[in-house]
Amino acid sequence: MKRLSLVVALVLLVSLAAGQDQSTAAAVKAVRCGALIHPASGQVQHNVIVIIQGERVRDVLENATLPAGAAVIDLSDHTCLPGLIDTHTHTLLQGDITAADYDEQLLKQSIAYRAILGTRSVRRALEYGFTTVRDVETEGAGYADVDLKKAINNGVIPGPRMRVATRAMDVTGAYPLSGYAPEVPVPHGVQIVDGADNARKAVREQISYGADWIKVYSDRSYFVRPDGVLDDIPTFTMDELRAIVDEAHRQRHKVASHAIALNGVHNSVEAGVDSIEHGNYIAEEDMKAMVQKGIYYVPTIYVGEYVAQGRAAAGAKVWVEMLKIHGETFRRAVHAGVKISFGTDIGGFDWGITPAVEFPYMVKYGMTPMQAVRSATTTAAEMLGMQNDVGGISPGKYADLVAVKGDPLADITLLQKIDFVMKGGEVYKAPGH
Ligand SMILES: [Zn+2]
Repeated sequence: MKRLSLVVALVLLVSLAAGQDQSTAAAVKAVRCGALIHPASGQVQHNVIVIIQGERVRDVLENATLPAGAAVIDLSDHTCLPGLIDTHTHTLLQGDITAADYDEQLLKQSIAYRAILGTRSVRRALEYGFTTVRDVETEGAGYADVDLKKAINNGVIPGPRMRVATRAMDVTGAYPLSGYAPEVPVPHGVQIVDGADNARKAVREQISYGADWIKVYSDRSYFVRPDGVLDDIPTFTMDELRAIVDEAHRQRHKVASHAIALNGVHNSVEAGVDSIEHGNYIAEEDMKAMVQKGIYYVPTIYVGEYVAQGRAAAGAKVWVEMLKIHGETFRRAVHAGVKISFGTDIGGFDWGITPAVEFPYMVKYGMTPMQAVRSATTTAAEMLGMQNDVGGISPGKYADLVAVKGDPLADITLLQKIDFVMKGGEVYKAPGH
């Protein structure tokens, strides 16, 4: 009697253990990569197996045998790298070469419709291999970026991890829509704020509605001086800019500053923003201050190429002149050791184009391919304060992993052909699909 119950108990135990094994095995995935790029160290591992449990990476093994029972994804003819990060997107904007393109979206499309288009933008971002984005303002679509982020996090729609800036800020008379009759009220692409107190209030308001970052427009009206310096008209006073930065930092949020030329960049650096967006021209002294203060540079080179001819045809030739200046500034920044975070301004150009078109420009203007990849992974993750979760493939981080055929370090344009995308252990795109 006693002996029999022991046998029954043993059989029970064994079957329980087997059952447990099966359920654990179901949650484990193994991705076999022909090569794996580690942007932080600059190392490339070959014949690697990435073990994923749930949302996160459990192990990275070289020349190992596959764990029994794991679901295997074979990318042995691919190069794997961490999910890419674009730190300057506009998911709610669908291209604006001319003022008319922009006005049409704000005047003729409801925010609801723009949000529907936004769901397409975020899906495309993910399919291009960008598993994290910082969206730096909705261009008149209110707080719809907070809702896109929420819908992605709740599993309603596919999309990247998002950090959002909501409405952004500029002063009266500086931001479109503009040029309409004074008696016709028109929407603006930003929240208009004047005066330090109002600026502080706007920061509080935007954060209360879900802004992760605060975005400001620090300059406008660009022109090339005879000495070759790209000059501008600053928007905010130093008082206003300092109030915005102080209020955002008090609440442990960061500030991104659109600053294309001399004064916009200088004032932003003085005020202590966290990132300079575009930075077509950065004076030598300001570049030194950026290195010293750890301010990131988000250059967005490709969008300049994209809009230049159209804007020149509409009378603004400066956009063509700015391209050359931008390339030189980027080269100086690489040399000076400024922290450069990958960003494209996609939405300013068509979402039918992959943000990866930015990479060849970064290489053309002085980065190695590895530096360019690092900028879109390690550095971007650090700027976002997400370095423990994204930007690398190592145990404990999210299983955000993309892959291409061939070697993107030999041909950086291959990153425009990402054909495998995994985010948080879920496959969103697989070769042949
Ligand atoms: Zn932008």
